[in-house]
Amino acid sequence: MNIILLGPPGAGKGTQASRLVDGRGMVQLSTGDMLRAAVKAESPTGLKAKAVMEAGELVSDEIVSGIIGEALDALEPKTGVIFDGYPRTAAQAESLDAILSSRGRTLDHVIELVVDEDALVDRITGRYTCARCNAGYHDHFQKPEKEGVCDACGSTEFKRRPDDNEETVRTRMAEYRAKTAPILPIYEARALVTKVDGMADIAEVSAAIDATLG
Ligand code: ADP
Ligand code: ADP
Ligand code: ZN
Repeated sequence: MNIILLGPPGAGKGTQASRLVDGRGMVQLSTGDMLRAAVKAESPTGLKAKAVMEAGELVSDEIVSGIIGEALDALEPKTGVIFDGYPRTAAQAESLDAILSSRGRTLDHVIELVVDEDALVDRITGRYTCARCNAGYHDHFQKPEKEGVCDACGSTEFKRRPDDNEETVRTRMAEYRAKTAPILPIYEARALVTKVDGMADIAEVSAAIDATLG
């Protein structure tokens, strides 16, 4: 099974993807995570992407479609994939069709996480992750069981993204509205889209996604 999680920054794509990884053994392909790894490694891709990401704008379609193709090639053909944060433009949606079909894969579901824009700023400015295992947390909505200790790996070091500030979030939301939301009709025409209420509790959102995937 190959699925796309679609929604604005802070909608809960990464949170839900990691629950699907744990629950179903699928693999999460997050272009955001892959780009951040490239920036950290100072690879040629990372050097190109760094300033664009810090500004909250979109990295070029060629770069992200290239890294998605490479990531898919590293997987067993039968492994189910969750596309998290990709595609984000009409050109990327077209590339994804070609990337999937050339590898004998089909797209089974597009889950649209529907959220109030006002809530997104709070979600993003409160977001942090484990510095060791990348598990996601929130200052108010998803605290670790023991304060300051990662539930998943026990690490006591956490990090925040440089682009998770209110100003950049506004740019990222505008990018979503202008370039990403318009790809939904492409998938609606193919009857692939299920809208899920992303304002519900994390567990309720998971349950709704599970019901859709069957
Ligand atoms: P969020 O989870 O908040 O939506 P991501 O981690 O998916 O953010 O992406 C962070 C940044 O990485 C984006 O603001 C953009 O600069 C870049 N990026 C990630 N995925 C893509 C993509 N598919 N196309 C273009 N840029 C991307
Ligand atoms: P995205 O990948 O779409 O940018 P994340 O999954 O990183 O979004 O979620 C953004 C922040 O909001 C994280 O700190 C996460 O813990 C929190 N969060 C995710 N889903 C919910 C939810 N349903 N209710 C409240 N907070 C949530
Ligand atoms: Zn951890």
